[in-house]
Amino acid sequence: VADSCPCGSGNPYADCCGPFHDGLPAPTALLLMRARYSAYALGRADYVRRTWHPSTRPPDLRPDDVTWRRLQIVDTARGEADETEGVVEFRASYRTAEGAGLLHERSRFTRIAGEWAYVDGELLAD
Ligand SMILES: [Zn+2]
Repeated sequence: VADSCPCGSGNPYADCCGPFHDGLPAPTALLLMRARYSAYALGRADYVRRTWHPSTRPPDLRPDDVTWRRLQIVDTARGEADETEGVVEFRASYRTAEGAGLLHERSRFTRIAGEWAYVDGELLAD
């Protein structure tokens, strides 16, 4: 489907990660994770920056030359709408000029001022 969301939900972008990119707070850590992946895939560096915890956010976030291909959620812990901490483990496949790659990460999320933010992640060997 041409307008299907990059996060792979199977839903149209406008009914999936699009509203989060436009300012709607993601209700769970998992939905924030998916929306951040979609933002990377679409080059929405503004959303990546906005949803990165200020304490760990890189000072300079530039678009990279990575083409994100597919997101697979491996595991989630906490991160529900009534919680303040959450973990999402995922595998994301991508392609660069050097070839195909796979990012396998266990990401930590926390809620600040009511909104989920990405804190950091542990890279896992695949
Ligand atoms: Zn989505």
